[in-house]
Amino acid sequence: MGSRCSIILYTDSEPKAAAAAEHAFDTIAAIEDTLTDYRPNSEAMRTAAQPAGQWVAISPVLTDVLDRSRVLYQLSGGAFDPTVGGFTHLWRAAKREQRIPTEEELKRTSASVGFGLLELDAAAQRVRFEKPGIILDFGAIGKGYAADKALGALREHGINTALVDMGGDLAIGDPPPDQPSGWSIRVQPGNSAEWTAPLHNAAIATSGDLERHYEHNGVRYSHILDPRTGMGVTAPRAVTVIASDATTADAAASIVSVLGEPVIPALRAYFPDIIIRIATGEPFEQATSTNP
Ligand code: ADP
Ligand code: MG
Repeated sequence: MGSRCSIILYTDSEPKAAAAAEHAFDTIAAIEDTLTDYRPNSEAMRTAAQPAGQWVAISPVLTDVLDRSRVLYQLSGGAFDPTVGGFTHLWRAAKREQRIPTEEELKRTSASVGFGLLELDAAAQRVRFEKPGIILDFGAIGKGYAADKALGALREHGINTALVDMGGDLAIGDPPPDQPSGWSIRVQPGNSAEWTAPLHNAAIATSGDLERHYEHNGVRYSHILDPRTGMGVTAPRAVTVIASDATTADAAASIVSVLGEPVIPALRAYFPDIIIRIATGEPFEQATSTNP
């Protein structure tokens, strides 16, 4: 998933800790193998490559992630859409050539983007696609999902006091013994003021172009795209979301990155406990170079 993952856990024996951590890391690796769009033989890539119209049997993980994605797609009016892969691959290719995708390329690719092109039968664990050429990209939900499942794996070993950090997407269990109000989580959104939140039995995720972006002709494009246009988001904002699970926090941070403040009420209506903070401002590197 292209990020460093760390796990902190509390338990009374070293072997127990090692076995639980190994199970959690194996769980993350298996989820990555299933979902990644960086390898043509992942389950997600193989599934979407099947002939259009044909039902394809899929694993419980792929079923679950597609099912969660469907809700988030609807809730966001299409701003979150894991069928955005055609566009993300187009941007990856364009970046290698130091350019941005042409209008013609975007138009052609838009025909194979849209969650509506996919029919999920979650009960029967199968999916089919209306047309060929769709690429599934779970980049905006996979790390959160993996963090949740890794925390779940630790709980299977009786370990509840733990934190899983998938490079900024965190799933958090019971508070540590010396911090009864929760794990102290420090958020540094770009060059905006950092803040700290004590969290337990919750999740937190941050996304936005202040960290990962691509600059072309003086315009900064986020790696988060608007699936309705295929363009990288250009509004400079870092979005932090606190939610009950990391899958929701991860995807919701991407949704707010695309749509900004106006989508917050819709997210709150569906996830009443959600907390969302948007940081705007000059990009981090620029601020440090003018203000050493
Ligand atoms: P990160 O945590 O890696 O900074 P996000 O969680 O915001 O990033 O996810 C960004 C990744 O999700 C992109 O690199 C791309 O693979 C994919 N993606 C980009 N735009 C969208 C979108 N609108 N909907 C779903 N996935 C997206
Ligand atoms: Mg995200």
